[in-house]
Amino acid sequence: MNVDLHCHSSASDGALPPAEVARRAARAGVAVWALTDHDELRGLDEARAAAREQGMRFVDGVEISVTWRGSTLHVVGLRIDPGSAALRSGLDSVRDGRVERARRIGRELAEAGIEGAFEGALKHADNPAMVGRTHFARFLAAAGVVKSSKDAFRRFLVPGKPGYVPHQWAVLGDAVGWIRAAGGHAVLAHPGRYGLSPGAMDSLLLEFIGAGGAGIEVVTGSHTPEQYRQFAAVARQYELAASRGSDFHGPDEGAEFGTLPPLDPSLRPIWRDWGL
Ligand code: AMP
Ligand code: MN
Ligand code: MN
Ligand code: MN
Repeated sequence: MNVDLHCHSSASDGALPPAEVARRAARAGVAVWALTDHDELRGLDEARAAAREQGMRFVDGVEISVTWRGSTLHVVGLRIDPGSAALRSGLDSVRDGRVERARRIGRELAEAGIEGAFEGALKHADNPAMVGRTHFARFLAAAGVVKSSKDAFRRFLVPGKPGYVPHQWAVLGDAVGWIRAAGGHAVLAHPGRYGLSPGAMDSLLLEFIGAGGAGIEVVTGSHTPEQYRQFAAVARQYELAASRGSDFHGPDEGAEFGTLPPLDPSLRPIWRDWGL
C-alpha cells in the first residue's frame, strides 16, 4: 500500500493548490494521503474533497514549526481534528510574526543589494500569513538573482547567510500537546535534516517521547538511503512508530510522490492501527 503522509500545498509553501496536489498524488499511485501544510489547516477541506474524488484515503495533517535549543525542528501531526480549538489557537500563535520576519528578511536582502524581495516573495505566496523562505527562494530564482530555489537557500536563506533572520517558533512540548489535544499523532519530521549530534538527538527524542510523541519519519524525501537505515534503527531503539512521506512541495522542487521505497518490514508503521 502506497502511503504518503507528508506534503505541502499553496496553503503554506507548496506550489500547487490542494486539489492539484491530490490529483498528482493519486496519479503517482498514492492510496493513503495526508496534506501537512506548515502551521496551517486551511487547505484540508479542499484536499479531503479532492482525495475522495480520486479514491484515496485522506488523513488530516499539519507540520508545526518548533524551536528547540536554538534549532528549527518540524513536528507533523496526523489524524488531527481540524476543528480542535487548542490546535487552532496554537497554530494562530505560531503563524503570528511570520509577516514581520518576512519584512526583516526583505530588509536584510536589500542591504545585500537585492531590492523588492518582501513584495516579490508575497507575490509567490497564495496565503500571505504563511509567507516564508520558500517564497523568497522562488522570488530570487524568478528574478534571476540565483539559478534555482536550492541555490537561493544555499546563498541567502540559511543561518550565516545575509537573508537569514532567526525566529522563535513553537515550544516542542506545546506543539506535541496541541496535536494530542486534537486527537492526533505527533511525528518527528525528517530528523536527518537537523544536523544534531548523537547526544542532542537522544535528548530531543527523550523530550519528544516524554511529551507524548508517537512516531518518527524514516523514509522521507529529505533523507538519503543511508538515513533510512539510520532512522529505522532509531525508531526500533526508541520504540517509535515509523512514518513515510515525500515532503512534496511542487514540480521540480525536490521529492515527487510515488518515488520513495516502502518502510522496512521490521518497523511499526504509524498507520498500523488506523484500520486502513
Ligand atoms: P520557513 O518556515 O519560512 O523558515 O521555511 C522553511 C521551508 O523552507 C521548509 O519547509 C522547506 O520547504 C524549505 N527549506 C528549508 N531549507 C531548505 C534548503 N536548504 N533547501 C531547500 N528548501 C529548504
Ligand atoms: Mn516547506
Ligand atoms: Mn519540514
Ligand atoms: Mn514539510
